[in-house]
Amino acid sequence: MTKSELNKYRNVLEAKQAELVRLVRNRDGIVIEKSADALDEVQYATERELAIRNLDRDSNLLRNVRAALGRIEVGSFGACLHCEDDIRPKRLSAVPWTTFCIHCQEIADRSQGHGAQNHEELLVNMA
Ligand SMILES: [Zn+2]
Repeated sequence: MTKSELNKYRNVLEAKQAELVRLVRNRDGIVIEKSADALDEVQYATERELAIRNLDRDSNLLRNVRAALGRIEVGSFGACLHCEDDIRPKRLSAVPWTTFCIHCQEIADRSQGHGAQNHEELLVNMA
């Protein structure tokens, strides 16, 4: 991979990292609202659950993005963590924080029993 390609991925990853840090930080204060109205209580609980699920997802993604930036630093970026083959540029462009080539990702998804980690990966897997 050329230096300018690496820089391109680093820029994308750093932008994504900044975005995720903002999202995760904003949700730090997931509030537990109380209401005398039982229906409101249900509504608040649902919203809280959704917020926590999103936070989970964003935190995971943030971890992946940070790991990918780390791999750029140590020079292993772009290689599949499982088989060490080069990850295809098309896949890297869509999900630069991916850790596996498409082949190993499919195996990982199957063995974990729950599809892609996020919407973008799902799209790439289906492509
Ligand atoms: Zn692989």
